[in-house]
Amino acid sequence: MAFGWIEEQAEARRRAGLVRTLRPRPAESPLLDLASNDYLGLARHPEVTAGAADAARTWGGGSTGSRLVTGTTELHAELERELAGFCGFEAALVFSSGYAANLAAVTALAPHGSLIVSDAGNHASLIDGCRLARGTTQVVGHADAEAVRKALGAHGGPAVLVSDTVFSVDGDAAPLAELAAACREHGAGLVVDDAHGLGVLGDGGRGAAYAAGLAGAGDVVVTATLSKSLGSQGGAVLGPARVIDHLVNAARTFIFDTGLAPAAAGAALAALRLLRREPERAARAREVADEIHARLTAAGLRAVRPDAAVVSVRAPSPEGAVRWAADCRAAGLAVGCFRPPSVPDGVSRLRLTARADLSGAEIGRAVRVIGETRP
Ligand code: PMP
Repeated sequence: MAFGWIEEQAEARRRAGLVRTLRPRPAESPLLDLASNDYLGLARHPEVTAGAADAARTWGGGSTGSRLVTGTTELHAELERELAGFCGFEAALVFSSGYAANLAAVTALAPHGSLIVSDAGNHASLIDGCRLARGTTQVVGHADAEAVRKALGAHGGPAVLVSDTVFSVDGDAAPLAELAAACREHGAGLVVDDAHGLGVLGDGGRGAAYAAGLAGAGDVVVTATLSKSLGSQGGAVLGPARVIDHLVNAARTFIFDTGLAPAAAGAALAALRLLRREPERAARAREVADEIHARLTAAGLRAVRPDAAVVSVRAPSPEGAVRWAADCRAAGLAVGCFRPPSVPDGVSRLRLTARADLSGAEIGRAVRVIGETRP
């Protein structure tokens, strides 16, 4: 039977307790949200939703074509200019998702004969970029600048290092300054995914590269998503104009994908302008994360010290993590739950996201529920 093997896989998944199901969220959820990536609380901000609605009215429900045909509106150009300016880069290019942006950056910047050095903790979209690229990938230990140095030193041709800036599961930050130094010693490019850093790290949320003094450097490229701090949808690549021009001409997920929807561009632009006006939102998201971590630790839970807005709490097992998250939900709290295949066996965990708009009382309630439901 066609696709007969699907049942075998499904059965194995059931036996391992790893079946995933979708749970549609109502518009007015009664749950306290520590699961979304809406770090700055902007997804439902009236200026952001108005930005989406106005853009849809002006430019239409969709962008109508690929970017090189009809899918580039003046709104896209405006967003790219402002995003680049805000983060301190020469140019930017927006994509229909952060996933597509990562595939674009890695594939277009790692030609045949090149070496891609990739951190073992990188996001799936960077890993898939490595798989699609013509260059050869070498995976190095997590946040290990010495291993990066060694890998780059052993290779003669063009090379690029790819890394998350803030790792999505544990919320720890990459040692960007050290990684950049290792790249410079060997003339390699640095591509960093700032999905969890933009809007949270750096002065007023200008991102991890800005915070590390790497913004605008000729050998640094940043990828980002518009779907987390900016409360919208879509992705971006920021870097030197010559790199961005190259992506326009060579990146397949740019060339063959329909342009970002105008509503998403309008929402992201409104969020960016709001963040410029209210830069304290970024620092507040970091403060909330630190407070969640401190209170969890005081309650005797094992949480990773957060470098941005993600707080990770160790669970005893994949089943334990699932049960823990379900019990939190039953008690009115939405938390993320990471287990294989999203994370390696033995490191299942709850993933909590800090939001700039969480009150002290809400943080207290969340930590109490997590403590009371621990497996
Ligand atoms: N990179 C990282 C580190 C992420 O966490 C995500 C989102 N899960 C992405 C890239 C993909 O971004 P998007 O959701 O916009 O496709």
